[in-house]
Amino acid sequence: MNALEDALEQELGSLRTQGLHRQLRRIDSAPTTTIELEGQQLLNFSSNDYLGLANEPALKEAAYRAIERYGTGSGASRLICGSLGIHHELDEALAALKGTEAALSFSTGYAAALGTICALLQKDDIIILDKLVHASIVDAARLSAAKLRVFPHNDLNRLEEILAWADKLAKVQAPQTAPQTTGSNLGSRMDARTRRILVVTESVFSMDGDHAPLREIVALKERYGSWLMVDEAHATGLYGTRRSGLIDALGIGRQVEIQMATLGKAIGASGGCICGSRKLVDFLTNRARSFVFSTAPVPAAAAAASAGVRFVQSELGAQRCQLLWERVEQVRAALGEESSNSRSAIVPVLIGKETAAVEASRSLREAGVFIPAIRYPTVARGEARLRLTVSAAHTNEQVAKLLRAFERLGLRGSGKNPLSG
Ligand SMILES: *Cc1c(COP(=O)(O)O)cnc(C)c1O
Repeated sequence: MNALEDALEQELGSLRTQGLHRQLRRIDSAPTTTIELEGQQLLNFSSNDYLGLANEPALKEAAYRAIERYGTGSGASRLICGSLGIHHELDEALAALKGTEAALSFSTGYAAALGTICALLQKDDIIILDKLVHASIVDAARLSAAKLRVFPHNDLNRLEEILAWADKLAKVQAPQTAPQTTGSNLGSRMDARTRRILVVTESVFSMDGDHAPLREIVALKERYGSWLMVDEAHATGLYGTRRSGLIDALGIGRQVEIQMATLGKAIGASGGCICGSRKLVDFLTNRARSFVFSTAPVPAAAAAASAGVRFVQSELGAQRCQLLWERVEQVRAALGEESSNSRSAIVPVLIGKETAAVEASRSLREAGVFIPAIRYPTVARGEARLRLTVSAAHTNEQVAKLLRAFERLGLRGSGKNPLSG
């Protein structure tokens, strides 16, 4: 073995002994509410396809038509010759969905976070994150080289303290001129600029499905004059009268400068987007490196996403969403959870120990139900859980089968589980 192999073996061995080693599981069927996993038919309660749109005929049709018209590849980045009609239609549909002046689609949500945060911030700026934001935002914050501050999950007092500190710093030490950073992610910025302060959170959190206190966060960021970016990955398609997201449902669209979403979850396709002012989109089109230096999404993906956005806003979308909330209530009630105003399609089942969570997931799989264990580093150590997600596509019988399996294993919703170890 050479030195690389030795080094890798050491790290892999350490992952295995900690119970943290992960492997890909091959699925040989469409990823719907049932999947064929290594020859076994399983009920799937692990997908983010909350409305069942990933296999919706209208979206498939749109993708086929886009392939017929434009082909399978976009040929280049959008700033060269890859900005096809279908991409423009998607951007317009997203702006209309979110009620913003403009929108820009990216190849993934991850790329949207990375490109946007790194375009907006540089060294000496300040980025303030909720402890539980998605890895794409954490990675973006690090890559931007801005000063990073983290507040405990949904802790408004701590957020305010950090904002007060940042505000003071910005006033005392506004840099006279930005450093020349040729060749870095920023290009050169000649103008003197004040220190920028950006707060980033999610509207519906990806692991527990709980909500951020967005109205209060908006009030704080307005008081201290910072900018706010909200990731609506698990809210887009699900909240508000047009299923736009939680921001729209709360009526705070005008106060959130940067709205982020992914098109790979409830929208049923793939891609990510940023919605906001025309100037923001113009700026990102020029400066977001994950947009500028990456081939445009394939026509089929853009078309499916466009059709997904149309679907969620339609009467059918409203019905599908209603069905989802009925299923969610059914599952939550059976798990002994109180019904809640801040509902989401994610129903976490806390276990605790990594090994116990893996064991619970394995027992469920034997009972024909697929719910993966979520472990460190996705969640904190010792807070391993089952991440159960509900889809509008689940049938009554499928939910009943899930609940029978939970009952047999004695699993409950919020902790106090026999396998907690
Ligand atoms: C899935 C997810 C992303 C990344 O989106 P992709 O389109 O999958 O790259 C970003 N933020 C959150 C909260 C997510 O759950």
